Amino acid sequence: MTLAGPARVSAFVGLGANLGDTARTLASALKALAALPETELVAVSSLYRSAPVDASGPDYLNAAARLETALPPEALLRCLQAIELAHGRERPFVNASRTLDLDLLLYAERKIRSQHLCVPHPRLHQRAFVLLPLLELGPDLSAPELGALRSYLSAVSDQRVERLPGG
Ligand code: AMP
Repeated sequence: MTLAGPARVSAFVGLGANLGDTARTLASALKALAALPETELVAVSSLYRSAPVDASGPDYLNAAARLETALPPEALLRCLQAIELAHGRERPFVNASRTLDLDLLLYAERKIRSQHLCVPHPRLHQRAFVLLPLLELGPDLSAPELGALRSYLSAVSDQRVERLPGG
């Protein structure tokens, strides 16, 4: 008899890097996401170049990924943080430049407000570098309390973000 494992849900992760070899870092982070237990990496957006928001420093390279996962959200967050650390992430101050930033943007249709985890990510609808790759993966995506994500695009149209050709 085969026992069914825990049900898988869709989760969306935002990736960003603005120090070092950013393209290589994102490629390596995507490999690490694909290797997570009980998880499948099912889609990856194009790469985007964006200006830092509320900070100085080099431009960011951004992307979004869609996972199908049986990991609970807190466990998934811990995995994302372990991948950040493996890529040398330090947090000297808020909004500091970073070798790798991974955010859990959406987890199924869940709304989560715990000490360590807020989902939907609290700033996802205010950031063009999050919305554009996310909407590439799901043009009709919506989030609890926020509704249709594409409705926030006009409000972020002044933010500099550019989709890079060739994936
Ligand atoms: P940041 O420096 O922007 O990556 O923020 C990291 C902190 O945000 C960590 O302490 C996390 O526990 C917390 N956090 C809360 N919600 C999320 C989320 N949805 N994704 C990633 N980190 C989160």
